[in-house]
Amino acid sequence: MPELPEVETIRRQLAPHLEGRTLLGVQILDPRWTRPDSSEEVAAGLRGRRVVHVGRYGKYLVWELSGERFLLTHLRMTGSLLFDAPVEPLHTRVRFELDAGHRLIYVDPRRFGTGHLVAGPEERDAYLHQRLGIEPLTPEFTAEHLHALTRGRRAPIKAFVLDQRRIAGVGNIYADEALFRAGIHPLRPAGRLNKADWERVRAGIEEALGAGIAAKGASIDDFRHVDGARGSFQDRFMVHQRAGEPCPRCATTIRKLVVGGRGTYVCERCQPRPRPRARRGGARRVVSGGEQL
Ligand SMILES: [Zn+2]
Repeated sequence: MPELPEVETIRRQLAPHLEGRTLLGVQILDPRWTRPDSSEEVAAGLRGRRVVHVGRYGKYLVWELSGERFLLTHLRMTGSLLFDAPVEPLHTRVRFELDAGHRLIYVDPRRFGTGHLVAGPEERDAYLHQRLGIEPLTPEFTAEHLHALTRGRRAPIKAFVLDQRRIAGVGNIYADEALFRAGIHPLRPAGRLNKADWERVRAGIEEALGAGIAAKGASIDDFRHVDGARGSFQDRFMVHQRAGEPCPRCATTIRKLVVGGRGTYVCERCQPRPRPRARRGGARRVVSGGEQL
């Protein structure tokens, strides 16, 4: 699934092609894309509008259009946007006809992607803030903020990092890469991290996302650039999908665990497992969670 760096890569590639261009015609071939809104109404609402700016919030692309309309698109599992594709691919869901003969195609084999048209910045913000927490790579993304969000929470740090309503845009790949960089075990209860731990997590997230953007995203599945090319971050993973290989820092074998139902990769030397709290009246040790695969 595309995560923040993949969507940011698409945004950076699309913006120069789209900004200033007019949507002469929009054909929404799959009504699921706009559900619960009518695809005919959305297509009619887009027609004739100029693309003012292509932005991003979390994994959403935010298209600012003339007349203060905003198109909010999410690629979900298998969506991709192709600019001036020589051949129209199978599973084309939406066609955007632009001026000067250009064309943007939205392709999505599994059809989970969405497009919503809203009027005005208030509606835009209401839509996004209902679904998304704090955006990394902004000045508001601080250790203090993260620490405050998790006080008293027992959920593992990885589950917290993956929760889009807490932190926008980080998925399974970048959560593993960020926690490795931070030296924090994914099973550590989020509420027990101290300020210094949070500073490492914050820095780890920013570094992992930055490395992903620099490599133009990871193509381990359907993710493609707007010209159909693949990203290269999958060749630079430090731990993600590297079970059985040596840790790039200490050469300990990387292990795969399951945390919150997600395959999770960890170096348990660089990321020490949380010590179970000593039980009252006994020295019983229980290692909780994290079944081994
Ligand atoms: Zn290591």
